[in-house]
Amino acid sequence: MTVNNVIIVGGGLVGALAGCYFAKRGWDVSVYEKRADTRLEKNRLKKKSKSINLSISTRGLSAVERLDPELLKKVASITVPAYGRMVHEIGGKTVHAIRYSENGDYTSAVNRDILNQVLLTQLETYKNVKVYFEHKLETCDLKSKTARFRDLTTGECINTRADLIIGADGAYSKVRQRLQSSTRINLEQKYIDHAYCELLMQPKNNEFALDPDYVHIWPRETFLLLALPNIDKSFTCTLFMPLETFDSIQTYDDLVHFFEKNFPDTIELFGEEALKRYFENPKGDLFYIKTNPHHYSGNGLIVGDAAHCTVPFYAQGMNCGFEDIETLDVFLVEQAKMASAAKVSGANQDDDDDDDDVKTNKLTPQQIEAALIKYSACRPKDSAAMIDLALYNYTELRSGVNNPMVTVKIFMERK
Ligand code: FAD
Repeated sequence: MTVNNVIIVGGGLVGALAGCYFAKRGWDVSVYEKRADTRLEKNRLKKKSKSINLSISTRGLSAVERLDPELLKKVASITVPAYGRMVHEIGGKTVHAIRYSENGDYTSAVNRDILNQVLLTQLETYKNVKVYFEHKLETCDLKSKTARFRDLTTGECINTRADLIIGADGAYSKVRQRLQSSTRINLEQKYIDHAYCELLMQPKNNEFALDPDYVHIWPRETFLLLALPNIDKSFTCTLFMPLETFDSIQTYDDLVHFFEKNFPDTIELFGEEALKRYFENPKGDLFYIKTNPHHYSGNGLIVGDAAHCTVPFYAQGMNCGFEDIETLDVFLVEQAKMASAAKVSGANQDDDDDDDDVKTNKLTPQQIEAALIKYSACRPKDSAAMIDLALYNYTELRSGVNNPMVTVKIFMERK
């Protein structure tokens, strides 16, 4: 048998990590990404503004480490650790800190683009990988394992086929749509009546404008301002509010009045120019999507936001997507080990082989399917739980932290 090949649709955070894992296991990997390569200077401004700062936690870092401990070091070098929440009380004069633990546990803030670029660069270190930027999936057929991409630079169409098609194409996934027409898939989607807008707080005198050891929050019961530190000493701040509150702010005076009332301590730190970006910056929708199962036969699988898009209040969307890839790898490795043990009939199965050395690139369709069945038996449940926690945590972040009793009450009600 020649080696297996895989098509990965989407070279975002999860698609790039998935590509690295398949390449490490010996598969021929083709990653198709509709955006231009943001590592090239000329493409930097092309990208649409999306959330630019994320929190990466143990769940996500574990997947990076399993792939390559050296990569973990690279990722660590582009993060800023945050050891807890700094709560900015109303009035702007008082703050109080809530540490994540007494043992110095932390979560790490990382710039989305820089992390994506590190993963893409890692992906290109494998010889068995081809990355096609500016190639958009037009359609795919999971039964025949074929896909059609459009080269956005020439307008040409490319038809291709692989042993496995992975949809890592985000919340509006086309692969998910195609999966729905191939198999019975349960899907739950819901928009919440809140949106978000990002604002950048630049450094002051070349230093962080706020204490960088914390995720800063301004909980205001029905809405929330949140700030995460960046390695360039700026803070990415995100305003999460009901849609009607966004609608009520139409002029710069409205905005200043709103900030004076709710976040007075931030006005000077932002400055007029940064605050005015409120009117230009996109207002992002907040919604979740739960799907089950995540796969079709041994032919296709959705991962990351394509499978389980979440509201961001638990900071686990990408982390959970990274865990998808680690879990998938565990099940594929398991299949490869079983296959090699079966070949050496009579010999003792060597389960102690270090997973790191295992190649999974010669699996039959049945073996791939066996791994995907196991995958769908656990990941949809786990990601659905993560989505529920994220919905709950919005109340906790914008209100519960102001009053611990409310937190307990809400938790009891949800149980
Ligand atoms: P995406 O990042 O959306 O990548 C999908 C890729 O597929 C994109 O590059 C896209 O261009 C490409 N693509 C789409 N369609 C096609 C097509 N037809 N053909 C080819 N390519 C295609 N998560 C955390 O873990 N921690 C956080 O702190 C956190 N904060 C967040 C804050 C906000 C405000 C938001 C909105 C989200 C946050 N998340 C966070 C969630 C996180 O951003 C997502 O879970 C993560 O980006 C999902 O990665 P992905 O690769 O699955 O999808």
